Amino acid sequence: DGVIWLDGKLVPWRDAKVHVLTHSLHYGMGVFEGVRAYETDKGPAIFRLREHTDRLFNSAHILNMKVPYAKDVINQAQIDVVRENKLPHAYLRPLVFYGSEGMGLRAAGLNVHVAVAAWEWPSYMSPEALELGIKVRTSSYTRHHVNITMCKAKSSGSYMNSMLALNEALSGGADEALLLDNEGYVAEGSGENVFLIRDKVLYTPELTSCLDGITRKTIIQLAEERGYKVREKRLTRDEFYIADEAFFTGTAAEVTPIRELDGRIIGEGKRGPITEQLQAVYFDLVRGKLDE
Ligand code: PLP
Repeated sequence: DGVIWLDGKLVPWRDAKVHVLTHSLHYGMGVFEGVRAYETDKGPAIFRLREHTDRLFNSAHILNMKVPYAKDVINQAQIDVVRENKLPHAYLRPLVFYGSEGMGLRAAGLNVHVAVAAWEWPSYMSPEALELGIKVRTSSYTRHHVNITMCKAKSSGSYMNSMLALNEALSGGADEALLLDNEGYVAEGSGENVFLIRDKVLYTPELTSCLDGITRKTIIQLAEERGYKVREKRLTRDEFYIADEAFFTGTAAEVTPIRELDGRIIGEGKRGPITEQLQAVYFDLVRGKLDE
């Protein structure tokens, strides 16, 4: 049910299909966004819509894909799918991909298609994750070279690693994976940025091996406004083991506390007080209850 915006038109959900020879399906050259609309007193509001669209266009530019629409059109498409589907709150997925006009790595002149879908996705992890925190395992998969040199792009091809890492973590009894970079420093989660807190100071990996997360940026700003110092620096696993608190940030994961890493309890083994405070202000902000 519902509609999906596809190449300038709202089409019924079941008709938003691609051919099996869709180039991006084979080689992973495609970019996307994960965006969220929250229920507010004034109806659904898309959080950081322009920032997500800017990042989508930057991701496409890094991959040398030319989006055949203006940013305003893609912004409006996102507003339209939420409205037309009458969603009180939603997860939105803008996607840019190559068509099926040619196969092989040398294919040229491929059409660039854009889709925007939206659906209700109440909780990304388990419903208790936000309150109780999650168990995390350091992954044997790293944020590998292509991902690191291209990590400003949110591209389909980068998510093979993320999925392998997440599957490894889940099958090992954890809830999420922590990926290291090639040098062994902490990079990020499978689809989240990561923070630790020690002596009331927040630390997060610098942007050399992780996505420039919009939630990450928001949390840095909210924390600084509340008087916390935030440092962006290279971090090691053991700094997480001895942290007072740790948490993931992401559009899907929001602010998810980490209670355990590699079998080591972090802090009190539950959501820490600063994490709880920042989580609360984040929820107030996304639901329009906080002035920016
Ligand atoms: N890191 C990766 C690899 C991601 O896929 C995401 C999700 O988009 C994030 C971090 C968090 O980014 P954001 O807060 O913009 O959703």
